[in-house]
Amino acid sequence: MAGKIKAIRGMRDILPPETGRWQAVENAAREAFALYGYRELRLPLIERTELFARSIGADTDIVSKEMYTFPDRHGDSLTLRPEATASVLRAVLENRLDQGAGVKKLYTLGPMFRYERPQKGRYRQFHQINCEALGSDAPELDAEVILLLMEILKRVQLGTSRLLVNSLGCPECQKKFKEGLSLFLSQKQGLCEDCLRRRVTNPLRVLDCKSVHCKEILKDAPVLKDYLCPDCAVHYARVLSLLSRFGVTYEEQPRLVRGLDYYSRTAFEVVAVGLGAQDAVAGGGRYNGLAQELGGPELPAIGFAIGEDRLLEVLPPELGQEKNRKIFLAALGPAARDQAFSLLQTLRREGVPGEMDFGERSLKAQMSLADRLGAAYTVILGDRELETGKATLRRMATGDQQEVSLSLLPMVLAGL
Ligand code: ATP
Ligand code: MG
Repeated sequence: MAGKIKAIRGMRDILPPETGRWQAVENAAREAFALYGYRELRLPLIERTELFARSIGADTDIVSKEMYTFPDRHGDSLTLRPEATASVLRAVLENRLDQGAGVKKLYTLGPMFRYERPQKGRYRQFHQINCEALGSDAPELDAEVILLLMEILKRVQLGTSRLLVNSLGCPECQKKFKEGLSLFLSQKQGLCEDCLRRRVTNPLRVLDCKSVHCKEILKDAPVLKDYLCPDCAVHYARVLSLLSRFGVTYEEQPRLVRGLDYYSRTAFEVVAVGLGAQDAVAGGGRYNGLAQELGGPELPAIGFAIGEDRLLEVLPPELGQEKNRKIFLAALGPAARDQAFSLLQTLRREGVPGEMDFGERSLKAQMSLADRLGAAYTVILGDRELETGKATLRRMATGDQQEVSLSLLPMVLAGL
């Protein structure tokens, strides 16, 4: 009987062989990160609520309704991290990783938690691959970070996708833009309830509304690009020209904002074709003011997050499948089983994956086990084989069999 206790809604088990595809994505990401000079951080999954409330912004979806927040036994308010950037910055400042010359390049992988309505591509525990580069406002760094993202997506063979880019300007540009946008919105009827509130508290958030009706109204809204100061405009133009130089195809998306308040200047998103409504597989941008917001020094920075769950939904099923070299040792009788156990350890020392059954099952039962385990070859060992000094080697896909001398067996199997 199946157990009675089930996983929590919106949280799922990721099982083999699917986990092999996850490893392939993470390995590809790790290799690309290394190539670009990044090193890994491993961070706690729980932080003080304050960290997220202060950085992400009170009027964002995340902080207003999506956080898993609870008091610990001591009464402190804690939150399961809904995103990684705030935690990365907390760790950087706390451990003084920001000191010294040069850009600090860090990445981290792991689960995030948001209390959202579960549906395809939207889970309450989901997984991100996060990249953060701190210590420079140079447009070259923006371009490099986007190139790195595209490199990872290429290595995992992501099919048709679109890179959307925008500039959110500096706080000065944003201030002027918000005034223009507020004025525009105040003249519009029919905004959703959330946007009526955001129009006053945080008009930029209106641009991120998912309501079809609000989107329609926003079609004529002012765009950030028209509000960029000369410095921000030059920065943005340089980022775009570098992307072009390195052959990255992008689309300028003048109404792209991110779901968190701390972004400035470059913002970007990658949307995949074939994912339906939840089509953003990665998003990122600059967050030049965040370190100071958290009480730290001036530390201009940029990063991105890949949504691993969604990405895997569009990647080819065969991703991560390596050549199958698995050997199953089918042994009949105690002497053969003993011999097989030694052979098994020899194979593993040679780096050949192998398995056997320690029970006393029939040959037929062992062959079906070999099939179930996905063995490429099975070695059959019984009393007769021990006497003649030859084992039977069976290729599972075709059923072809041949005899191999026991002394040569490890060498033959290692070469398959
Ligand atoms: P969306 O607009 O789809 O809600 P978001 O702007 O909230 O996305 P970010 O905070 O930018 O998402 O997170 C980066 C990426 O993480 C997203 O592009 C997406 O791929 C993934 N992601 C975000 N929320 C979820 C979720 N609940 N389940 C699965 N993946 C998610
Ligand atoms: Mg969201």
